[in-house]
Amino acid sequence: MTKILAIANQKGGVGKTTTTVNLAASLAAAQQRVLLIDLDPQGNATMGSGIDKRDLQSSIYDVLLGSKTISEAQMRSDAGKYDLLPANRDLAGAEVELVGMAHRETRLRDAVQGVAVQYDYILIDCPPALNLLTLNGLCAARSVMIPMQCEYYALEGLSDLVNTIRKVRASLNPDLEIEGLLRTMFDPRNTLAQQVSDQLQEHFGSKVYRTVIPRNVRLAEAPSYGVPVLYHDKASKGTQAYLALAGELLNNAAQSAA
Ligand code: ATP
Ligand code: MG
Repeated sequence: MTKILAIANQKGGVGKTTTTVNLAASLAAAQQRVLLIDLDPQGNATMGSGIDKRDLQSSIYDVLLGSKTISEAQMRSDAGKYDLLPANRDLAGAEVELVGMAHRETRLRDAVQGVAVQYDYILIDCPPALNLLTLNGLCAARSVMIPMQCEYYALEGLSDLVNTIRKVRASLNPDLEIEGLLRTMFDPRNTLAQQVSDQLQEHFGSKVYRTVIPRNVRLAEAPSYGVPVLYHDKASKGTQAYLALAGELLNNAAQSAA
């Protein structure tokens, strides 16, 4: 069955987009059929996939407003070897326009249903807010991947997100699970990062991915070339980490299917 993952954390700059783009490319490199949905008006995942957000014919905006289907609005990311439903700043307007519409939280879910069978993985890059866009992401998804930096305030933000997930589960999407917590930009020499990482494992146990994403300059550079890190520097630590994460996901999926 199609795995639909929202990559979410209302905290900004924790590595959501970097994770979405590089996980999508790594899964595609493992022969998975992948759709990346950019749900952020910043359009960073779109740019990172090698698509210029300034000249889109159509985007997720048209899908949420109901004027296009995903099949009509999606593009191919040749740079990442996956399909992309792109976004740009038009999407910021959608939030306002959606407020008065029926089923405003489930519009993405309804649209995704039409294409889900064509994919093994659908990854949704959420914006840094617990807003109506993120709610659409959480309703469309079966599980949430939470990238986080191991720093002092990280755990505090986490409880807000976990509460939101709980509320969505109680009302709109009873099947929603936390797929896992991903430690990003990790520096093992930093004692505080180690402590927070230990606390995470204490609280969340096996929900913390074994794979850790290190701080790696190649990951930060790749978007300026419009490619996932895999096609920027194959040997880099960043590439290896995201390939390992894809492997961990595939392994978990194989085990739960068995
Ligand atoms: P936003 O909340 O604004 O959407 P985000 O959570 O999507 O941000 P990213 O855009 O992925 O976060 O990352 C924030 C910045 O950190 C970017 O400049 C990115 O290139 C850089 N970055 C992300 N992960 C790493 C890493 N592992 N090593 C080095 N730099 C990284
Ligand atoms: Mg982002």
